[in-house]
Formats: sequence, C-alpha cells, structure tokens
Amino acid sequence: MNMKLLFAFACSAYLVACKAQLPTTAPATPAPQALKPVAPPAVPKNIILMIGDGMGTSQIYAGMIGNNNFLQLERFKQLGFIKTYSFDNIITDSGAGATAFSIGQKTYNNAIGVAGDTLAHETVLETAAKSGKATGVIATCAVTHATPASFVAHVPHREMHEDIAWEFVHSPLQLFIGGGRKYFEQRKDGRDLMAELRMRGFYTATTEAAMLEVPAQAKMAALLWDDAPAKKNEGRNDILPRAAALAVDRLKSNEKGFFLMVEGSQIDWGGHANETDYIVQEMIDFDQAIGKVLDFAEKDGETLVIVTADHETGGFALAGGDFRTGKVKGAFTSTKHTAVMVPVFAYGPGAELFTGIQENIDIYKHIMNLWNLQPTRQPVRWDAIRRGN
Ligand SMILES: [Zn+2]
Repeated sequence: MNMKLLFAFACSAYLVACKAQLPTTAPATPAPQALKPVAPPAVPKNIILMIGDGMGTSQIYAGMIGNNNFLQLERFKQLGFIKTYSFDNIITDSGAGATAFSIGQKTYNNAIGVAGDTLAHETVLETAAKSGKATGVIATCAVTHATPASFVAHVPHREMHEDIAWEFVHSPLQLFIGGGRKYFEQRKDGRDLMAELRMRGFYTATTEAAMLEVPAQAKMAALLWDDAPAKKNEGRNDILPRAAALAVDRLKSNEKGFFLMVEGSQIDWGGHANETDYIVQEMIDFDQAIGKVLDFAEKDGETLVIVTADHETGGFALAGGDFRTGKVKGAFTSTKHTAVMVPVFAYGPGAELFTGIQENIDIYKHIMNLWNLQPTRQPVRWDAIRRGN
C-alpha cells in the first residue's frame, strides 16, 4: 500500500467516525418556502357600464374610419364577446338585452326588468343602491326607453312608458339624464311626475343650463327632451360626453362608490334606418363619452369600466371606405337586430373577468360577484311594486 492510498483511507475512516458522533438534533430539511404574496382581490369601488345600443364590430370599425382611424375604445386592452340571444329568440331586442345585464336572467323580447315569468327581479342598480352606492343612468333617448328602463323599472312590456316613468320617480337613482319628459308630464292619468319627482327630493332640469345649476349633492332628474333628442348628424350637440363627465363628477363624491349606466342609444337607430352616416356619428359621439369615462377611471384607479352592446343592428357590413376622407361605405342585410356576438371591453379592477366568450347575463354575475352583492328582495309580481302608491 503506498502512502497516498494509506492517507486517503485514514481520512475517510476519520470522517466516518466524526459523522457517527454528530449530534442528533434537527435534521437538515430545506427551510419552508415563504408563500408567494397574493395581490389583494381587485374590487372596484365604482362600476360604469356603457352600452352602445346596436353596436357590433362593424359599427365600431365604421366609427374608426370616420374618426381618422382612432377611437377611444382602442385604449382598452381586455376584450371579449358576449352571446346576445334572449330567452325565446336567437335575436334579442333591447329590453331582453338590457334586462340580461340588469337582472342576470335571459328573458323574453320586450321585457323590462322582469324574468321570463314576468316576475320583477331586483336590478343590479337597485341592489347597488341598497348597498350604499350612488347610482345614475344616462341615455340619448327617452329614459323610459328599453335600455335605461331595464335598470330601473319592471314591466312586462317595453311600451309601458308611463309606468316606467312612475318607477323612475320611485327609484333610488341619484341622477338621471335623458329624454322622455312627455311620459312624466303629459300622462293619461293626469299626474304631474315632474312635481312628484321634486316632492321626492329630486331637482328637476329641462335644459342643460338648468342641469348645471343643480347643487352638487342633490338628486337630479334632467329630462332634457320631450322624447328623444335629435340625431348627432342632424344637430345634437355633444351632450352625451358632457353628461357622462358631469355624472361621474357628481357621483364620485359618494364614499361607498357608484354604479352608472351610460347608453349610446341611437347607434341602433342608425342601423334600423340603414343610414351609415347616422351610425358613424352616433358611434363617434358614444366613443367620446367612453373617452371621458376612461380619463376618470385611469386617474381614479378604483373604477371598472365595461363597454358593450345589447345586440347588433342592421346586419351592418363595411363594403369600403377611406381613412383619409373618413367616408364609409356601409351595406346592410336587415333593418332589424341580428344574432351575432357583440364585443365587451373592460378596464380597471376586475376587467379580466370580461375577457373570452361569455353570455350576456355574465355581465350581471361578474358585477354582483365583484361587489359581493346578493339581491335584497325576492322576485315579486311586477304589478306588486306599484301597489299602495
Ligand atoms: Zn333596436
């Protein structure tokens, strides 16, 4: 055995002996890994739901062409689609479409805030108000029209404008801005609902100037037109973007947050009329309101903005156009609504919930889940709401 080998043998024998004498305390297990920090759940304080009535992807792209190849909508990075079919029809109307958003139930066409069995369900706006949120509704049509009505009222048919107006008077709304004054003051029952609004604490305004005079904390009913305002391409000013900015500014002072629904109402009417320029101008107007809302949400950081549509209108297609001139060549397959999916854009806390392909009723579910809300009232017969008043 040479010296090297002998030395190596001696060393290993020594090491074995040493190991045997090691204290038998804690085994050398790996230190427990710290848990990955989890981001706090993204709960928005405020939710603004913006509905472009009849706004499909062609309407959006037509707006882009007409607006030098840019819409505020392009600021969104989280997008999805919703299936719009109603309870009884692959093609929805605005009543069933907005009611899907407001009560989370597929219902029959023409329904307003009632399910397929005509039972009145508490709307997301009503539940939000019960939880302490300030609430508001804005539209460029009569406020009693299907989309805004579906968040506030419960009637078996959308044509029941006077009943819907009564529900606005008795609603928890902090503010509403739109048309349809005639359903409040020229009624078959002879009641003056403008006076009744004031009795219930609303400041009423029939002009934009009067609307701006309403004290900041007061409840506001701005009924600016007898029925619907003019088309944007026939002289309506930019009341929609300004009303959206004003509403956000008024509602944001509520400590518990707010829920606001803003409708670009007449994109749909351009589709029904098969008038491309009508669609383009209404689309750009609605988009400017979206821009105002996004500016606020970006600064605020606690506001979820959802932009979607109830359905597409006109089977609108783009047969040509020119970005330089803003000219759009539209083509139509229908004067009615169509069955296609419509896009959803979301920004802010919880926005990721709105990506992918979903049902229209999922919009309601996500809002309720984000705010951890449950309806406070069981569904009731729709006419029971008015009993005793
Ligand atoms: Zn329509």
